[in-house]
Amino acid sequence: MTDPWALTSPGAVIAAERLVTPHGVISPGWLATNGGRIAALGQGEPPAAATHRAHWALPGFIDMHVHGGGGASFTEGGPDEARTAAAFHRAHGTTRIIASLVTAPLAELEHRLEMLSGLADEGVIDGIHLEGPFLSAVRCGAQDPRYLGEPSVAAFARLLAAGRGWLKMITIAPELPGAAEVIRAAHAAGVIAAAGHTDASAAVTEQAVAAGVSHATHLFNGMRPLGHREPGPAGALLDGRVTCEVIADGTHLHDTIVRLVARAAGPGNLVLITDAMAAAGMPDGHYRLGELDVTVAAGVARLAAPGGAGAGPVGVSQGGVSTGAVSKGGPIAGSTATMDLVVRRAITAVGLPVTDVALAAATTPARRLGLAGVTGALGPGLAADIVLLDEELRLQDVMKA
Ligand SMILES: [Zn+2]
Repeated sequence: MTDPWALTSPGAVIAAERLVTPHGVISPGWLATNGGRIAALGQGEPPAAATHRAHWALPGFIDMHVHGGGGASFTEGGPDEARTAAAFHRAHGTTRIIASLVTAPLAELEHRLEMLSGLADEGVIDGIHLEGPFLSAVRCGAQDPRYLGEPSVAAFARLLAAGRGWLKMITIAPELPGAAEVIRAAHAAGVIAAAGHTDASAAVTEQAVAAGVSHATHLFNGMRPLGHREPGPAGALLDGRVTCEVIADGTHLHDTIVRLVARAAGPGNLVLITDAMAAAGMPDGHYRLGELDVTVAAGVARLAAPGGAGAGPVGVSQGGVSTGAVSKGGPIAGSTATMDLVVRRAITAVGLPVTDVALAAATTPARRLGLAGVTGALGPGLAADIVLLDEELRLQDVMKA
């Protein structure tokens, strides 16, 4: 894979009050890059004059679930629009990005997979996530219900071929007929089988984990809620040693739930995502998610036509948060978050240790995507994917390789 960002990077010498490594926080610390890689790091003042000074140095963020941003989308438009979306998130600290598609007709998904594969070859994105089309109609949230279909190994094989090795993850509702076969096919092909947009019982979800489900798509959102007699998918997935995505934007989940997920899933199993759509970084107004209209008010994106096409049953949404939240409009439709925001909130509002947040925002997604040893941590020999933050955890600088 060619990485255009690696070609023109002179060495940087970073001096940070706190350098977050897999072995703990080095304070103060320094880090030197060479040829797009981390050459060395250590404690104290750097051995050469610093080119960059910051309070925090963290590994570049890896967003495993994102549909767009900066007014542009992976779900619509051509390569230039996808480039705009990737560049928007890169400017917010996301150095590796998995472009997420939403449910659409099979031929359209094939076409988009082909287009995005070309961008992955160029290093603009790092893989593709198919959020659909094998999802539950009653938990479809901001997924177009017209194009939902029953799981089919033949259809999956077509999508896999169109992705040319860049299809990294597929979200599937395990309770649908034929789901187990597609989960096994995905697992066998090295594609992460993720449970999401699902109305499955805990028992069915446990069977799906045994069949190869190893990841939870935005846990709690777009799935049957956790009950104390029927723990549903959320309970089974939290108990299943699978990696669990959370949208920690303060809207999709209560911070207490994010804290509970972090504890229950355990370090190394929490994954911070944005699930952002085109409206991220843009003013309130009207946007699109796939073929659905979305209205953003006060930074919260909702389907524009409650009760119309795509609006799930009341109280059920991709957000799936609560009836109260839904009553103000349609279901929550993706987020307007960026990784720098969810990382800052995970530390300040949720209260997670910064080392756990670095795991959840970089190291664990890198491992899940087969990029451990390439990126995902501040360590010698890894790509110089680095985010610098100020004392208030606000983004100061981003380096990609
Ligand atoms: Zn999504």
